[in-house]
Amino acid sequence: MIRLYLSDAPDFTTGLGLVLPPEQGRYLAAVMRKGAGDEIAVFNGRDGEWLARIAEAGKKAVRIELVEQTRAQTTEQGPVLLIALVKRNRLETIIEKATELGASKIQLLITRRSNADHTNVDRLRLIAQEAAEQTERLDVPEVLPPVKLEKLLTDLRYSAVFFGDEDSTHETDRQTLPMLKAIGGADTSLSAILVGPEGGFDDGERQALRALPNVHPVNLGPRILRADTAAISALTLYQAAAGDWQSQGAAG
Ligand code: SAH
Repeated sequence: MIRLYLSDAPDFTTGLGLVLPPEQGRYLAAVMRKGAGDEIAVFNGRDGEWLARIAEAGKKAVRIELVEQTRAQTTEQGPVLLIALVKRNRLETIIEKATELGASKIQLLITRRSNADHTNVDRLRLIAQEAAEQTERLDVPEVLPPVKLEKLLTDLRYSAVFFGDEDSTHETDRQTLPMLKAIGGADTSLSAILVGPEGGFDDGERQALRALPNVHPVNLGPRILRADTAAISALTLYQAAAGDWQSQGAAG
């Protein structure tokens, strides 16, 4: 069943009539050839998932009516992904995979070696929305415009930041899983995973990160991973060890 995220929708109630934003209306009527009487699933990030019926699918607008709630809103907040700007196509992959893997928020970062100091945030937000629709999430992770790493470190608001350090040689770094289990599970929405750019973190950044008490270097194996592989691997480890894969039993 088609699922649509209605970002600016009011609170959902039975019988509520909504005219879809033009691009979503066009997608339903013209692309998916849906018409009056057809059913879709909708969510607004607050009221769970609802069954909706198309009331009319005109050339100008498509209007739906809410039938009933089919899934209650979950409040499970995954970890935050702090990601340095990398090449566009890889960054788009990271946004899509982080959404599927349950990241609650994605904060873009500028680091000394990051690929650029700006990116098309609106496009990334659309990718997050489409991934959330496909992966059957009930919310869409916020994609926050890039900030400088050093600025982020001055008012770090996370209880634990796990930073992928490809140069990690410290013995403690190797205990990734137990560390995630021990620290990560506390409050996942205040845990963050930090991944650097293609050029990695520079020594000054690495030093600053290692100096912070709630920042933990994690080792993602003996090989150098590309930033997208590192982000996906770290999020997978986290969700399996300390996140919402636990509750679903997916971790076995
Ligand atoms: N400087 C590296 C490339 C960095 S890879 C090089 O020598 O080519 C991009 C990011 O992925 C890194 O900043 C780090 O956050 C993460 N990463 C890659 N491999 C990793 C590993 N084995 N352990 C931990 N983090 C890793």
